[in-house]
Amino acid sequence: MNTASFTELYNKIQKAIELEREHKYVDFVGRSSTFSQFVLESIGRVTFPEKKSAENLRICFEQYAFDSLSGRRSSIDLLWNEFEKLKYSLKREVRRENPFKTFSLPDDKRSLDEIDVTFVKGVGPGVAKILNKLGVYSVEDLLKYYPRRYVNYEGRARIADLELGMSASIMGVIRKVSAYITPKKLAVINVIISDGSDSISISYFYKISNRRLLERYKAQYPVGSGVIAYGTVKKDSYTKQLTLDKPEMQIVDGADFDTTSEENEDMSAGRIVPVYALTEGFSSRTLVRAVSNALQMYGVRITDPLPEEIRTKYNLMDRREAFLKIHFPKSDEDIENARFRIVFEELFVLQLSLALIREKNRKAYNAVSLSVEKNGLVETFMKNLPFELTGAQKNAVKEIAADLNSTEPMQRLLQGDVGSGKTVVACIALLCAIENGYQGAIMAPTEILASQHYKNFVEWLTPLGLSAGLFLGKHSSGMRSEMKTSLKNGQMHVAVGTHALIQEGIEFSKLGMAVIDEQHRFGVKQRAKLLTKGESPQMLTMTATPIPRTLALTLHGDLDLTIIDEMPKGRLPVKTELIGAGGRKKAYELIKEEIKKGKQAYIVYPLIDESETISARNATQEAKRLSEGEFKEYRIGLLHGKLKAAEKEEVMLDFKNKKYDILVSTTVVEVGVDVPNATVMIIENAERFGLSQLHQLRGRVGRSSDQSYCILVSASLSAQIKQRLSIMTQTNNGFIVAEKDLELRGPGEFLGTRQSGITDLGLADIVNDVKILDMAREEAFSFVKEFDINEYPQLKKLVQRREELIAG
Ligand code: ADP
Ligand code: MG
Repeated sequence: MNTASFTELYNKIQKAIELEREHKYVDFVGRSSTFSQFVLESIGRVTFPEKKSAENLRICFEQYAFDSLSGRRSSIDLLWNEFEKLKYSLKREVRRENPFKTFSLPDDKRSLDEIDVTFVKGVGPGVAKILNKLGVYSVEDLLKYYPRRYVNYEGRARIADLELGMSASIMGVIRKVSAYITPKKLAVINVIISDGSDSISISYFYKISNRRLLERYKAQYPVGSGVIAYGTVKKDSYTKQLTLDKPEMQIVDGADFDTTSEENEDMSAGRIVPVYALTEGFSSRTLVRAVSNALQMYGVRITDPLPEEIRTKYNLMDRREAFLKIHFPKSDEDIENARFRIVFEELFVLQLSLALIREKNRKAYNAVSLSVEKNGLVETFMKNLPFELTGAQKNAVKEIAADLNSTEPMQRLLQGDVGSGKTVVACIALLCAIENGYQGAIMAPTEILASQHYKNFVEWLTPLGLSAGLFLGKHSSGMRSEMKTSLKNGQMHVAVGTHALIQEGIEFSKLGMAVIDEQHRFGVKQRAKLLTKGESPQMLTMTATPIPRTLALTLHGDLDLTIIDEMPKGRLPVKTELIGAGGRKKAYELIKEEIKKGKQAYIVYPLIDESETISARNATQEAKRLSEGEFKEYRIGLLHGKLKAAEKEEVMLDFKNKKYDILVSTTVVEVGVDVPNATVMIIENAERFGLSQLHQLRGRVGRSSDQSYCILVSASLSAQIKQRLSIMTQTNNGFIVAEKDLELRGPGEFLGTRQSGITDLGLADIVNDVKILDMAREEAFSFVKEFDINEYPQLKKLVQRREELIAG
């Protein structure tokens, strides 16, 4: 059979496999035959390098129609493997001596991210389809599909040569697998591997008694697969034979793995084998080959986006070499150096985009310069406050005042734990604007928060002879026209509101200062929109979400950070306790005691509706149950997200005005709500919340000088849950909670999908690569000062892509 007709057959087989998979392995009926008949006929048309291949395939596909689903699947894997092998044996033009020797490609000016992955040898439409699912579309994507880990089989030994005590890797084929449960309820999976020299029996033990689960474990070791196993040689206490102690086992290929051949046409023939995250229908070897081929075909065309100076300074290997070594390392040092280089590039690009955003914003316009006069509004306000500002608040005021004095637009994020007193600081910033003849605005994400701010501002501004207005609601048409008029003609000094503030029809006379509370709840565009309401106003952003430094550098890397890390004096830390369902009775007693003292309580549930799978208690139902039972003599309010905004408002206000003793709520009570008289919070199903969220919730109590309590209830206090939740009982410091939360959940989950544009990096790990992050950040920020990015087109392209991701 010639190459052309083989390729045709190869493509047909591939197509047929795809269809069969789509048909869920039913042995679908094609135009003239069934799938398995077609395969049998095709097998007869080709000559495999090894006779037994054809024989094996024939056996598989003759019984295909009667086979089990998993049997059919593995037959298909086998089939595909054999055809791949055949294809490669037909064209062995790859030269391993020179990995970057180019194939005769047409003159092609496109960069690697513009070349479709199907141009890579070995990537047919079928493979491409799977790669696409993994997010790999271009040659560059393929090169950036990094190994998850590596299996090192340096010192690979023949099974016959194993000796007690040595650590060794063996490579062989799984000959037999058995799974059973001993009378003592210990589950055992026994795998027999042979490599031609001898065979070895390896056992894995599990503390399970579920047969089904055991079968599933067993399926991880398909008979006929090639494996590499690595571990220490020991004597099996039962059989007295040599075995490996809990070895790491890696399935290297599908059936009939060739362990004897020294010849291997791809680059992975080294001692360290890359392990990739794979999906069904895809063998590790297929991917290894694709990457290897991509490097061989396109390696010469990999150019380096990093400036020469930086590469030299940090002794970074060339990008091309890094790609080669990350996929096909020859030593651990190769992996380390290649990884360093790649991570550096990722973080440098990320920080550079942040630096450029910052630079752009800095030069965006000349902002109004606001200065503070002696005995002006700001000073009078501070003097009249019933309390003294904390040191951290004073510091924040100082930093903000300095920013406002300059005509460079302020780019500052005020970060402070719940209850740390950010609102007063915001008020001072707004007064700065008013003192200089401008208006101010403060935008909050929810109506509850906006109303609360409004109430504070009225209280603070009225004595100064200033006025504030509250803007809520979806349609500005529904707002009172006097309010809009007084905002427009400048009679109103501060506009407080939700998104309502950025609607058409809301106009200021002279907006000089905009504050965004809980800034992460707004999009970039919404924040920018508020600025367009003025000529060239200053802006201050705030957040109550403590973020560990490493993440803050990335997430808010374009902003200056001011952290309020000190609580107002006289605050007692909230006493936090973790209890099982059995402790609830006592918790209710505590609520009753506090109510007797004139205090109020929250009971928080994770969900409002009994959704399909989640059995979380339903707040609505619970409120009813509690008011009819346990708390019959008390007044209970109910707050959840399904209420209309006005209703929520009313409930909150009623709670604040002590019309309720207890507020049963979902997490809508989370952000910024301020009812200092509430001193107890019970959080049900606490295990369903992230630590940071629990901390936010807890911040609703402990807002006065009285002792407050937070009780976390979890019916399933497993060791793991207990350990996690007990962090809450150990500290009241939001930053520590956040660090732990990040550590436990990783940046992706910690931040949620919202910020994935920033944390979605290839190899870099924002938490653990903090040293590289610092270096990359420093270089990026000095780069924008010294160089013009336009002179680095390749770098510019990477940065632009990252900017798009950040903007979402
Ligand atoms: P957050 O930072 O969560 O927005 P707030 O600004 O709502 O905190 O402040 C919480 C409470 O503490 C408010 O009632 C506020 O008036 C009060 N407060 C703010 N600063 C101080 C201070 N320095 N001393 C005493 N109480 C303060
Ligand atoms: Mg607040």
